[in-house]
Amino acid sequence: KLGNETAKAELGRASWKLLHTTLSRFPKKPAKDEREALSSFLYLFARLYPCGECATHFQALLQRYPPQTSSRDAAAQWGCFVHNLVNERLHKPAFDCGAVTEMYKCGCADADAEDEE
Ligand code: FAD
Repeated sequence: KLGNETAKAELGRASWKLLHTTLSRFPKKPAKDEREALSSFLYLFARLYPCGECATHFQALLQRYPPQTSSRDAAAQWGCFVHNLVNERLHKPAFDCGAVTEMYKCGCADADAEDEE
């Protein structure tokens, strides 16, 4: 049981890292197909997330709070908001969303460079 909880938490940390980094490096002015790609990715991610209980709850969150894809900021703030809803359900402290885009760098020149613009 403890081993399962550790695996679930590790999967969660890795997944949130990928999610927040993807949202924080999303184009500032996304094209229509980029917006559609992000939206599809998030719904499929929620559907395929390997922890079934987590996936069920996250899909309900997406129904209630559809992904915001109009800009990098909108996407990153949405991600922080839904993560905070999961934090709340798990009795974890709320996270300050103010600096979320700066926090999740990808280490890749192209996407991080858009920050300097
Ligand atoms: P995590 O919540 O994993 O966060 C990792 C780091 O991200 C934190 O240390 C902090 O630096 C940063 N962070 C925290 N909050 C935010 C935020 N709002 N925005 C940006 N960055 C933030 N576990 C369950 O037991 N039951 C579930 O139903 C469940 N559902 C999940 C659904 C999804 C989609 C995902 C990705 C994970 C889910 N998890 C669930 C796992 C859970 O959310 C945590 O990942 C896990 O419990 C480990 O928690 P943690 O305290 O290490 O921090």
